[in-house]
Amino acid sequence: MKNEITLKIKSNFIDKYKNGYPLIFQESILNLASLREEGAIVTLVDEKNHFIARGYYGRQNKGYGWVLSRKINEEIDEAFFQSSIASALNQRKSLYQDTETTAFRAFNGEGDGIGGFTIDYFDGYYLINWYSEGIYRFKDMILGALTSLVDPKAIYQKKRFDSSGQYIEADDFVLGERPEFPLIVKENGVNFAIYLNDGAMVGVFLDQRDVRKKIRDQYAKNRSVLNTFSYTGAFSVFAALGGATNTTSVDLANRSLPKTIEQFNINGIDEKDQTIIVQDVFQYFKYANRKNLQFDMVILDPPSFARSKKHTFSASKDYTDLLKQTISITADKGIIVASTNCSTFNMNTFKGFIDKAFKEMKANYRLVEEFSLPEDFKTIKAFTQGNYLKVLFIEKV
Ligand code: SAH
Repeated sequence: MKNEITLKIKSNFIDKYKNGYPLIFQESILNLASLREEGAIVTLVDEKNHFIARGYYGRQNKGYGWVLSRKINEEIDEAFFQSSIASALNQRKSLYQDTETTAFRAFNGEGDGIGGFTIDYFDGYYLINWYSEGIYRFKDMILGALTSLVDPKAIYQKKRFDSSGQYIEADDFVLGERPEFPLIVKENGVNFAIYLNDGAMVGVFLDQRDVRKKIRDQYAKNRSVLNTFSYTGAFSVFAALGGATNTTSVDLANRSLPKTIEQFNINGIDEKDQTIIVQDVFQYFKYANRKNLQFDMVILDPPSFARSKKHTFSASKDYTDLLKQTISITADKGIIVASTNCSTFNMNTFKGFIDKAFKEMKANYRLVEEFSLPEDFKTIKAFTQGNYLKVLFIEKV
């Protein structure tokens, strides 16, 4: 195969790859210098040149690419991409048929066999996220494979490997007919406004679908709800629809105000009955503590890392502190929904943060619900970092 590079794997890492580990990582490679151009096909071999696996070179965070196949004769061509994508779409059949949910993840990178890109579905429109220059080199094959299987109204893309972080609208459109934005999609009967042409974040994080449903169906009724790091207010909308007495959404970004109003309005909720605050959450906590505010439900969904003018937040270092400030403004028998998408610690560590926070605040708690990624965000056992989402519902008792 053209461009094929042989990568020698250190003996102590061979079993790891053989057992299904998909990420090609630096410490395992003896001849790193052979890697030049992203998108090259690589063959992983042992010290005796015996075949282990085939993959591609692409820099993504600390990774050097992804394993694609463990069959010696399998070619990485359009038919290869087509069969992986077809299998993924087939596993989402029930979501495709669900008229109440028209937005979901159609292809989830390594969880569906090919690391480095994802495909999201928004009511006939598709969004591809590319995570490395390397996988982007396969763009034509992947588009060919996808369009041979479905008939998209349009395809948009985000090149997330662009270190400039600049998203150029013209660059986001790939093919089809440009729609008017926002698209109005549904999730369990609730409307979301989606903008595929407006930066990295399109309006909703699809991985919280099950959590939002749970809040609406079982927890919101007659509760006052504080939603922190609220973005477009998706949790607030579900809480309001579930019968919350009121919702307060707090986010630092100016855009969160019009976007949250829009989200309420497209669901028939008057935003004047809700509270939307553009402020640093840590400032808001100070205010709420000073005023002795109490909420029956507090939702915490911070980014893994965030820097504001006065504060740097890192989930792995500061989650316990965030919880401590939350506990004091949560009413007795109230619920804290603690969420994190940080992949550097696991659920047990997360539970440890929670335990520590409650102990230090001399408060008692009970874990009442536990969520990780929903089914369409498919993950594999061999790559636990892929299952990044951790959500716990904690009752203050
Ligand atoms: N919970 C949201 C997603 C959160 S995305 C949802 O379910 O849709 C993270 C959000 O945190 C962004 O909107 C960002 O503006 C906000 N953010 C980051 N640091 C913040 C801070 N210190 N105070 C308030 N909001 C912050």
